[in-house]
Order: sequence, then C-alpha cells, then structure tokens
Amino acid sequence: MNNFKKAVEFLKDANSIAVLTGAGISAESGVPTFRGRGGLWRKYRAEELATPEAFKQDPVLVWKFYDYRRQLISKVQPNKAHEILAKWEKGLKNLTIVTQNIDGLHQKSGSKNVIELHGNIWEVRCIKENKIFKYEENPIKEFPPRCPDCGSIIRPNVVWFGESLNPEILSLSFSLFENSDIALVIGTSSVVYPAAHLPLLTKKSGGKIIEINIEETSLTGLSDIFLKGKASEILKGIDSLI
Ligand code: NAD
Repeated sequence: MNNFKKAVEFLKDANSIAVLTGAGISAESGVPTFRGRGGLWRKYRAEELATPEAFKQDPVLVWKFYDYRRQLISKVQPNKAHEILAKWEKGLKNLTIVTQNIDGLHQKSGSKNVIELHGNIWEVRCIKENKIFKYEENPIKEFPPRCPDCGSIIRPNVVWFGESLNPEILSLSFSLFENSDIALVIGTSSVVYPAAHLPLLTKKSGGKIIEINIEETSLTGLSDIFLKGKASEILKGIDSLI
C-alpha cells in the first residue's frame, strides 16, 4: 500500500487526531519561516530578535520586527492546507490543532479547535501590569507602543526563545497528544521544544505519527509515515482519497 493510502486509513480509523503545525504550513500563504527567506530582517537571526533579552536591550528594534511581521500577516490568506484541516475538523473524529504559529491563519480558515502554543501576534501584554489585550494597530505609529491605561511599554504576547510556555496550555497539549491515536505533524522543523516532544507522546502511548515536510527532520526516523512535499499538495492528495 502506498503512503497516501496508508495515511488515509490511519486517519479514517482514528478516534482522535492531534495535529501539530509549524511555520511550514503558513509558508505557502507567504509568511516566511524563521529559517527561510524574509526580506530585510534576514540579517538578524530570529534568536536575536525574538527573545526577552533583545526586547530589554532594544524594544524599538524588536517592535519594528513584529510590526513588519504583523503587516505581512495582515495581508496574507490561509492556503489549501489550512482549509483542508478546517474541513477535516468537521469530517474526521476529534481533530484538534496545536500550532506553534502566531499568525492566526488556522482560525481564519475556519478551524475552531485550535491551541496556540506560542501565543498570537495580535495580542500584547503590558510589561508592568501583565494585562493581556488585543492590539491591532497596523502599521504601528509610535515605537515602542504603550499601554493605554498605565503608559508602560507593551510587548507582543508571544512566547520568545528562552521563555516558558503557559503551563495550562502545555498540559492540555500534552494530554491531547498522549490520548490521540494519530499525531499529524505538518511543516515544523521539530527543533523547538517542548513542541517537538508532543508527537513522541502519541507514539509512546501506542499511536502513530504521520509527518509532512518538504525535507526530513529529526522526527522523520520516528514517523510511521513520512510524506515529503509541500503541505498543501500532500493534504490535497490525502483529501482526494478520504
Ligand atoms: P521553522 O521555521 O523552524 O521550520 C519550518 C519547517 O517547515 C521546516 O522544517 C521546513 O522544511 C518546513 N516547510 C517549509 N515550507 C514548507 C511547506 N510548504 N510545506 C511543508 N513544510 C514546509 O518553524 P517551526 O518549526 O514552526 O519553529 C520555529 C518557531 O518560529 C515556532 O516556534 C513559531 O512560533 C515561530 N514562527 C511562526 C511563524 C508563523 O506564525 N507563521 C512563522 C515563523 C516562525
């Protein structure tokens, strides 16, 4: 049996499916991955900008990076891969998406069961009061933007390199992957922890891993099925057989 047919069989037989998505699923919408091309911000490594240390040292620079990403994300649309997952949420049993992306494209394509591991680019947090709120000014006019209530600097409410994930979101994700029959992993380099650990929980409790990526990753050797190619094309291929 070829890998596409096998994947269809796995997905149709499953009582619960946990999907883990990374930057690769949004690449075809035009959102650059951290390891791909990204215009003028290429001279910085993501690890130099998306960190609490960078923000402390130069909040304006970090906010300009996020303003660039916010402007870009506001102009893009979900692609076929996001759309097919939204459709499967209705047609397959208990499908939940855990995403490392902060772009909101899963929700924009209609998915309802979405857990955002690393936050959302349209949310901010006041660094003084820790209050979280939606902040959609686009483009941002004054840098760094400030809290309308107390005047302190606000920061993007996203998880930066070196920061811990929200413990509730993390434990929800752990139990989801532990209790799912299938971990479907799409467009993630599997180097950012703890996200990279999630599919292993499914495997450990007797489930299967299906991985979709344009190249092999550190997860590929452990995957039951590896489908090499662009997320939208592979998902279209599977969907046509379901
Ligand atoms: P990554 O940049 O480390 O890796 C992207 C992966 O996607 C790579 O393995 C690459 O081979 C694969 N890929 C690229 N194009 C693809 C396609 N068309 N189809 C399938 N696979 C494709 O991204 P990551 O693993 O998500 O981790 C980096 C961190 O960066 C995450 O924590 C995430 O929060 C953040 N990030 C988010 C966005 C976003 O919100 N869209 C974009 C960039 C980075």
